[in-house]
Amino acid sequence: MSKVVYTDRSRIESFQRCNRLRWLEYHQNGQGIASAKKSLPLAVGGAVHRGLEVLLRAMIGEDPSDEWHGHITAVSMRLEDQAVDAAISDLAQYRGSLALDTSEALAQASAVPVPDDVMRSQLAESLGMSIEDAGLDALMTTQQGGQKAFDEYLWREQSALVEGLVRAYARRRLRPLLEEFEVLEVEREGTWELAGESDSCPQCDSHNQLNRPTSCHDAWHRETLRGYSIVFCSRPDALLRSRSDNSLYLMSFKTAATWDRRKELDAQHDMQGLSEGVEVERRLGEWWHQLHTTKIVEDGWGMSYAMREYLSELPSPPRILGIRYEYLLKGYRGEDKDLSARFGFKVWSQRSHLVRRYRAVSLPKKGEGGFSLGDYCWSFDYLREDGMESKLYYGHWKSEPVDNVKAWIDMLDDFQEAMSAYDSTVGQEPRPMGWKSRGQALGYTKEHPLDAIFIPPITVYRNDDDLRDWLEQTEAQEVRVAEAVAEVEAATDSDEERSALNRLFPMTRRACEYPTSCSFVKVCYAGEEMKRDPLASGLYVRRQANHEAEREAWSGVEQERGR
Ligand code: SF4
Repeated sequence: MSKVVYTDRSRIESFQRCNRLRWLEYHQNGQGIASAKKSLPLAVGGAVHRGLEVLLRAMIGEDPSDEWHGHITAVSMRLEDQAVDAAISDLAQYRGSLALDTSEALAQASAVPVPDDVMRSQLAESLGMSIEDAGLDALMTTQQGGQKAFDEYLWREQSALVEGLVRAYARRRLRPLLEEFEVLEVEREGTWELAGESDSCPQCDSHNQLNRPTSCHDAWHRETLRGYSIVFCSRPDALLRSRSDNSLYLMSFKTAATWDRRKELDAQHDMQGLSEGVEVERRLGEWWHQLHTTKIVEDGWGMSYAMREYLSELPSPPRILGIRYEYLLKGYRGEDKDLSARFGFKVWSQRSHLVRRYRAVSLPKKGEGGFSLGDYCWSFDYLREDGMESKLYYGHWKSEPVDNVKAWIDMLDDFQEAMSAYDSTVGQEPRPMGWKSRGQALGYTKEHPLDAIFIPPITVYRNDDDLRDWLEQTEAQEVRVAEAVAEVEAATDSDEERSALNRLFPMTRRACEYPTSCSFVKVCYAGEEMKRDPLASGLYVRRQANHEAEREAWSGVEQERGR
């Protein structure tokens, strides 16, 4: 009987980034280990995904005809609040245990302790308070509380960011998405056998679907598999049907700090479109055949009414045409002098207009400034009445965190595109002047503030030739990894294990700090004891299974052990 081994996109990529990373993350101590602190980008990305999942799940099979517009308007606010609650609950798992990027963590650690009197005057200056103000005493205590207070601040700031991103999506992106696509499935777990020796080999089926001329049960395949059944687990963010031509697309949400051309090009080569589509195509193919022969829908399929309708009307089994990437920008993190003064060490803050804004703290001495004390601007750059570009004067405007995200998003959402008046002196027709609202007291902005956090969706079309190469490469890689894991686990002492790891899971050393810091630097470059038992340090915990199939397999093993 074949040995079942689970894999997924993350662990395939992990091996390709660094062989040792794959071992530590997925095989160390039997199940793999993870940092006891959650990386900030991963925690925020996961929470935003959770919120978007709630939004899209409520839209499965929604029809844009009839009373669709009214329906969306009536339920949208309640749904938006539910999505925000789900997203923040997800983030709350990591309250007090968010891990900063190495550069930020190092900046914090390098801070020189500040004497109390200096701290007091810095605080008074940054907050515009008198040095005698009694309110400074409480802030001094907060600052001396140091790290704990910062952790709490960070959690609040990141919760606000997650809330802002989910609300912005609900208001500016959900409706256009639904006008173009029908949502058929959301976050549906699936598995397929990437490599196996069973008589009815799903791998052959997928090869046959691609018109490959050969069965997988040839000599090469038997030699390659060597008794393993490699099961690929996937969970696409959503499955969409184009309303214009009935073609299918997978949805992939991504959060990124900033955007550049390299990220756009990178998306073109992402394996997600290839890997996640296999399970969906295979499953929908089986459903289509069953529906068109027996017309019976099995209870366990969990098929939505919308999916049944769609498959029933199709003349042949569906294929996935492409993957649609939607990027949400979180903004970068930069040093914040006010916060550094407040906490007593170097602190960075999130530069996103969803959670920070400029408040008017003084007015020009001469003439009208066009704004009043306490007014807000979301953007430092603005357009003047004459269309010229300008910037806020830093002496009048102070950057500060947003205290009520929902109210601020309401202000940002309440923007209109302004038009100039007809100029009869030169006969100039009205022209667009930019976006205007209560969220930008001074001038106009080129973009709607909520649209500014979205990159236009990118569609990457699937290519059968690419898929064939990816399947063969991944199958061979994952069988090699399964064999390597078995060899390391068979080691009888720590020396033998160390040697097997060095041969079979070498340290790449080129991916430790770039593009992001690897969470295992403290294992790879530590002493013998840490390498032997990272869990004992308290810095790492056992990995949680992130797919249902693996979770069930683990609980089966636990039950076996308990007997
Ligand atoms: S610290 Fe470097 S060598 Fe170690 S697992 Fe991470 S990337 Fe690989």
